[in-house]
Amino acid sequence: MSQDDKLFDTSVVHDGYDAKGMLGSLSVPIFQTSTYAFETAEQGERRFSGKENGYIYTRLGNPTVSVLEERIAALEGGEKGLAFSSGMAAIASILIALTKTGDHIICSAGLYGGTFSLFNLLKEKYKIQFDISTMETREQIESLIRPETRCIYVETPINPTMKLIDLQMVAEVSSKHQLPVIVDNTFATPYLQRPLELGCDVVIHSATKYIGGHGDVIAGLVVGKAEFLNQVTMTTLKDIGGVLSPFDAWLLLRGLRTLPVRMERHSQNAEKIFSLLKDHPKVAAVYYPGDPEAFQYEIFKKQMSLGGGMISFEIEGTKEDAQHFLNLLKLIKIAVSLGDTETLIEHPATMTHGLLSQEERDAVGIRDQLIRLSVGLEHWKDIWADLKQALDQL
Ligand SMILES: *Cc1c(COP(=O)(O)O)cnc(C)c1O
Repeated sequence: MSQDDKLFDTSVVHDGYDAKGMLGSLSVPIFQTSTYAFETAEQGERRFSGKENGYIYTRLGNPTVSVLEERIAALEGGEKGLAFSSGMAAIASILIALTKTGDHIICSAGLYGGTFSLFNLLKEKYKIQFDISTMETREQIESLIRPETRCIYVETPINPTMKLIDLQMVAEVSSKHQLPVIVDNTFATPYLQRPLELGCDVVIHSATKYIGGHGDVIAGLVVGKAEFLNQVTMTTLKDIGGVLSPFDAWLLLRGLRTLPVRMERHSQNAEKIFSLLKDHPKVAAVYYPGDPEAFQYEIFKKQMSLGGGMISFEIEGTKEDAQHFLNLLKLIKIAVSLGDTETLIEHPATMTHGLLSQEERDAVGIRDQLIRLSVGLEHWKDIWADLKQALDQL
């Protein structure tokens, strides 16, 4: 339930906005302005000193963006939301806000490719060390905690292997050591999984994916405690400046309204495709969070309400066979990104995770024959017909 007790499907449509005082405009107005005129010089002084609330300059806040920030906070069950120009801008701003030279981060094994590059950049330039953990047990995580550890960074379901991490367990370990847990909730969305309710501290989204849902905007969102996010607003968001434009905020508000309906259908379609892939003789393995036979199903039941739209699978063969398979598809588009209305397919070893070394890919289970599928909203029979005709030709 969201903070004012509206049910999720209602919050997604209404929270953070009241048409009253907005000339009755049902759609959230786009405040396409860079700055705001003060009534007097003294008012400008009060705004800058923080004695009076109000807008100053769009990098510091914008009414259209504020509606989106309030809405995502309600959906994740957090105190405050912040919007960024991309998922990576959000992740970088949060990590830079939390760490300084010499600090240490514990992160989950298997991360979004860009996030992994960012960890490496922080290490090379600012000597911020990180340790990677599969986070299967408390002991495993605890053994990595050092005096310089500043946070635990988790992605679940993990991209692209669909492995799950028990968020409640990680939150328990971290609160014992007073470390914040940051969760990249991009694959699940708050409709399927709400990390803050499980004891985690900060949720990050690449809103480019399911939140926007239509493949037409790049954006990032963060939800967490007001105290921490106010600090981010006044430091990394203000000083690095990766803010979201008002128009892109409006696109996200438009996409968000249908999140529950879309996630239900993405999940239904993916469940069908998952079971059909599993029975196809050319498919060697299929990975799906909602797989009832997977060793991680207990974690799934604890923290996710549906399996979502992401599947990965392995075909028999080599990298070239995987590329050949992609080339045989007709309806399904070869593209990175995910969560769009269109079904998208990609080859992690040469695309999203191509910058990792072979050893790094091996360590997280990204084999050359692994393929990632973002199941879209087309009729599942058409999605399957396309996959099947290509698999049958292998
Ligand atoms: C896409 C993605 C990101 C990065 O988001 P951008 O909006 O592309 O900057 C981060 N994490 C995950 C899990 C993603 O899928």
